[in-house]
Amino acid sequence: MCAVTSGFAELYDSEPHAVWSAPGRVNLIGEHTDYNAGLVLPFAIEQRTIVAASLRDGDDITVVSTLYADPARARLTDIGPGRLSGWSAYPLGVAWALSQFPDRPAGRPAAGPGTRGGVDLFIDSAVPAGAGLSSSAALEIAVACALNELWGLTATGAELAHASQRAENEIAGAPTGIMDQFASLLGEADAAVFLDCRTEDTRIVPLRLREAGLELVLIDTGERHSHAAGGYAARRASCERAARELGVPALRDITPADLGRAARVLDEETFRRVRHVVTENDRVEATVRALGTGDPVAVGRLLTASHVSMRDDFEISTPALDLAVDVALRAGALGARMTGGGFGGAAIALIERERVAGLTEDALDAFSRARLPAPLVRTVTPSPGARRESLQIEYQVHGRLGAADQHAAVGGVVDRVRHVVHVSRQQGCLAGVAHSGAA
Ligand code: ADP
Ligand code: MG
Repeated sequence: MCAVTSGFAELYDSEPHAVWSAPGRVNLIGEHTDYNAGLVLPFAIEQRTIVAASLRDGDDITVVSTLYADPARARLTDIGPGRLSGWSAYPLGVAWALSQFPDRPAGRPAAGPGTRGGVDLFIDSAVPAGAGLSSSAALEIAVACALNELWGLTATGAELAHASQRAENEIAGAPTGIMDQFASLLGEADAAVFLDCRTEDTRIVPLRLREAGLELVLIDTGERHSHAAGGYAARRASCERAARELGVPALRDITPADLGRAARVLDEETFRRVRHVVTENDRVEATVRALGTGDPVAVGRLLTASHVSMRDDFEISTPALDLAVDVALRAGALGARMTGGGFGGAAIALIERERVAGLTEDALDAFSRARLPAPLVRTVTPSPGARRESLQIEYQVHGRLGAADQHAAVGGVVDRVRHVVHVSRQQGCLAGVAHSGAA
C-alpha cells in the first residue's frame, strides 16, 4: 500500500476514498510572462505531490502534510482572504475557491456525491518547496482534482487551474500567474505545454529529447525562496505599472517595435523590466518553431538568451544561478537558463546525454570552489500531468533512482509519514474540537 494511503488510514482511521497526484514543473522558457498575459512553455516533471482524501462529516477541512509538522483544520466557512497563513493556506485556499463553484454548471452532467462539506486530506510530495519547481501548483492541483471528484463538481481543467490560482493569490497571498497550474494539469511525456496566458489556448509541443540524444538537466542551487513574499511581487507590480504608463492592458501588447517609445516613456529600470517581458515572449515563439523544425542548437541559444535577459534586465537571478548556467555552458550545454520565478531555485541546461556526467562533476567542483553549498544536479523527464492514482500504487514520485536508492527513498517516505502521523496525533489537531488554521 502506498505511504499516503497507509498514513491516511493510520491518521483518520479509515481508508481514503481515493489518491490523486499532480507533478511539479520546469519552465523551459517564458519567465514572468504569464502574469503579463504572455506566452510560456513549461513541462511537467516526474516528481509529484500525492494527496489521499475522503469526505468527512461536518464542514471541516483537515490538512496534514509530511513536509510540515503543523497539521491544520479549518471550517470551510471560516476560510477567506487574509485569514490564513503558512502552508495550509494553499490546500485550504483551493477548498475555499472550489466551494464557490456553481452547483450544476449548464450543460454538465449531474454532480456525483455532491456534498460540498468536510474533507480529510493527507499530503506527501517529492517536489521540493521553494526550489522553482512549483511545489505550490503541484499541491493545489492535486487537492483541486481530489475535491473536484469528492464534491462532484465536474469542473474543467481550466476551472481547476483558476480555482488553484485564486487560492495562491487570494488566500496564500502569492501574486503568481496561471502557468504552473496548467503545466501540472496538462503535462505529457516527452512534451512541453505551450500556453498563451491571455487566450488560455494550449498546445502540446513534442520535445523528442531521446531521439536527439539530449537531456534536460536541472542544477538546483539549494537556495530557497517564497513567492508569497518579496521580489516576485515587486516585479509583478513594476510590470503592471509599466503597462498602465504605456497605455496597454498588459505587457503582452508591447512588441519589439514599441520598445523605442517605451524607453522614452519609462524610467531606465522599468524599461529593462519591460524589455525582458517583450523579448521573452518572442523567445517562446521562436523556441516552439525551433522544436518544430528539430533545431536543438537554436533552442539552446534561446535558453541562454533568456537567462541573460533575466540576469541583466529583470534582475531575478543570483550568483549561484549565474554560476550554474556558466558551468553548464562550459560543460558543452547547447543552452542554459535559470528557471522559475527567480531569487534562488534551479537552472536548467539542454545538453547531450554523454556530457551529463561531466556537467555534474564540473558543477560540484565549481560550487565548491566558489564556497557555495553543493548543488543537486539531475536530469528531469517531461512527464504526464495530474491523475487519479490507484490506492495500491507503489510510491514512485522519486524519479529515476537506482534500486537501492529507491528502497531508501521509500523507507524515507514511510518514516516521514510515521513522524507526521505521530505529531498530528500529539497536537490533538485531529481530536475534532480544536480548530487551527483560520485565524
Ligand atoms: P515553489 O512553488 O517554487 O516551490 P512557492 O513559494 O510558490 O515555491 O511555494 C512553496 C510553498 O508551497 C511552501 O512554502 C508551502 O507553503 C507550500 N507547499 C509546497 N509543497 C507543499 C507540501 N508538500 N506540503 C505542504 N505545503 C507545501
Ligand atoms: Mg510556486
